[in-house]
Amino acid sequence: MSHISDFVSRLARRGASLLCAALLLLSLAGCGGKTPSPSGSSTGGGTVSIAPAPAESFSTPGSTARQQTETRPPETEAPAPDESWKLLLVNADHPLPEGFQVELKALRNGHHVDVRIYPELQQMFDDARAQGIYPFINESFRTAQRQQVILYSYISRYEAQGMSRAAAEQKALEIVALPGTSEHQLGLALDIIAEFDADNSATWQWLKRHCAEYGFILRYPADKESITGISYEPWHFRYVGVEAAREIMSSGLCLEEYLDQLKP
Ligand SMILES: [Zn+2]
Repeated sequence: MSHISDFVSRLARRGASLLCAALLLLSLAGCGGKTPSPSGSSTGGGTVSIAPAPAESFSTPGSTARQQTETRPPETEAPAPDESWKLLLVNADHPLPEGFQVELKALRNGHHVDVRIYPELQQMFDDARAQGIYPFINESFRTAQRQQVILYSYISRYEAQGMSRAAAEQKALEIVALPGTSEHQLGLALDIIAEFDADNSATWQWLKRHCAEYGFILRYPADKESITGISYEPWHFRYVGVEAAREIMSSGLCLEEYLDQLKP
């Protein structure tokens, strides 16, 4: 266990993993998760990856509330809803806030997401399917405990391959985020693959082209690895809201750069 404090300091110095997409097999877990392969049982059988939502499960989207507010006369204008949650930054240098909590929506395939992003997520999947694209959620919300289990599973795997404990820990942290620094703990990040096709490229291309319309961004672009600290992950999408997503995806900025721009 004494090695863990060593990794934390090493991680802080080195930032997040740069090797997490080195191999597709491992890289599908690169954003911190051990994920089943696209051919795994979780993708088979033609199951629908997101259940249709009961009407009562939908919360009012923030954009609608904002539009309504903007049409009111100034003297009766209500305070703008707090939408800072959409842009909460979590990475190796910005751990999850102390006591972070999120209200989750359970999806039919066992995954969970922040309930506030569910309507737009469902719409994105519905629209993709209508165009012959069948996305499948491979990873979603994770607890810190699950992140820890994933990390230790990698450490054990490398030790079984003959590495020392210290070397195994270091290599695992190059692939799996330390608990508290994984964006998946927000409930706003999703790893998406093709549901039926072993080749994910059509699905990822569609998502890259259209994700912003639903408030999502490609979180770890290929040319931003030095800023995000994460290797290119074409499967990892993060909800930030439509307005920010459109600006980020059209400008080519990554989330870190976009947030820097917003600073006074
Ligand atoms: Zn991910």
